[in-house]
Amino acid sequence: MRTYIQIKPEDNVAIVVQAVPKGTELLPGLVTLSDIPQGHKVALHDIPKDADVVRYGVTLGYALDYIPRGSWINEFMLRLPTPPGLDDMPYGINIRTDLPEPPVKTWMGYRNPEGGYAGTRNILGIQTTVQCVQGVLDVAVDRIRRELLPKYPNVDDVVAMNHAYGCGVAINAPEAKVPIRALRNLCHHPNFGGQLMVVSLGCEKLTVDMLVGPENNTPENVVVLQEHKGFEACMQAILTMAESKLKVLNERRREPLPLSDLLVGMQCGGSDAFSGVTANPSAGYAADMLVKGGATVMFSEVTEVRDGVHLIAERCVSAEVRDKLAAEMRWYDKYLEDAQVDRSANPTPGNKKGGLSNIVEKAMGSIAKSGTSPVVEVLSPAERPTKHGLIYAATPASDIVCGPCQLASGIGLQVFMTGRGTPYGLAAAPVIKVCSRNEMKEQWPDIIDISAGPVATGEMTIEEVGETLFRFILDVASGVKQPWTEKYKLHNYLCIFNPAPIT
Ligand code: CA
Repeated sequence: MRTYIQIKPEDNVAIVVQAVPKGTELLPGLVTLSDIPQGHKVALHDIPKDADVVRYGVTLGYALDYIPRGSWINEFMLRLPTPPGLDDMPYGINIRTDLPEPPVKTWMGYRNPEGGYAGTRNILGIQTTVQCVQGVLDVAVDRIRRELLPKYPNVDDVVAMNHAYGCGVAINAPEAKVPIRALRNLCHHPNFGGQLMVVSLGCEKLTVDMLVGPENNTPENVVVLQEHKGFEACMQAILTMAESKLKVLNERRREPLPLSDLLVGMQCGGSDAFSGVTANPSAGYAADMLVKGGATVMFSEVTEVRDGVHLIAERCVSAEVRDKLAAEMRWYDKYLEDAQVDRSANPTPGNKKGGLSNIVEKAMGSIAKSGTSPVVEVLSPAERPTKHGLIYAATPASDIVCGPCQLASGIGLQVFMTGRGTPYGLAAAPVIKVCSRNEMKEQWPDIIDISAGPVATGEMTIEEVGETLFRFILDVASGVKQPWTEKYKLHNYLCIFNPAPIT
């Protein structure tokens, strides 16, 4: 079994596969100078003060002091480099055409009556204009589940799309377009089968017209609570409308579809130093297979791409795509700068405990989940794709914000890589969990779906885990299998990205 993992020959650090005590000889002449926790970095050579500390062939930072060979390297020993420049990034110089052939090229999905990507589930989604309606709607949804859903066996679930936006917000601020776009696009998620249903309060800033357009603001689609006399009348209005939508949804059937009808989102959270060598590259391999088969794959998380943006630019198919990538990065740089922080605010205590010293190291691992395909389009947060292939959607990295953004972009499911472990999930689309270490799978055997840990121990290759994941993605998309988060209904609150002021 391997004791440490060095990624590139030029790296002067490696991560240890298991925790190693002080005095362990990893190689002839390479003896650990202290205890080193699992996944943390060991200096392979003497590193002078101010010299580059290199992993992934990339400078993670500069040594604050002399680091002797065998030392444990942690976040306190590095100075963060400046992020790569955004002007005139070379594009189109790393366009890969020999992607891995997928073993399966069709899946069973729900064709979307509104066009676009197909659904992976058949769900009644009830939209809300404002948080104020949540209490009433939650009671109604509980009743719909108990009283109505059993009568419509072809419908998988009913989901209240509750959120914190809608009122008490600067709705005319320029950046309000981000949350408004997200909520508008969520109404048309492919899993909802084109059935619009909105619960509104009646006095909110985000009007029904703004949410679904005046053409859809009809008594068949919208319940306005302030127009009903008393609680029970509000309930009856919601239940009656829900039943009319359930009747239509119950007629939906899965059919064989090409991979070009599938949109898969990629995200990671609670990453560790293994994420970039096991889980994320395996997901990247599955992503390459999906793209080769005609599917669309979306990856996101701006602060985790920023330090590797030049590597993404190289894969952009045109100057236009590269320019949009740079524009999204600039917007985010300013967003952080206005709040007097930078990308270094990203790593969490858990990331650091897992061996990630800083955002450069985290980013190098994070972008591995995009695979190696050309980037055909770059989207602003919650925009809908217009192309097929690998797409970069600029969203925050926060799991519970990235998720709803990708959902608004129309993902049929999300693949989520984790090192430290998180039970995160989405109500409107399945979330598949891939962990980076075997210990994580042993700890949470019934939350983690697939372990990429065998890549770290040398028992499986990235390609083997990647193909296993690819097959699982298609089984979940087709409704043949359910990931654990879906079985247990582990669903997070829909945290809509709102860069505009709250009033
Ligand atoms: Ca994340």
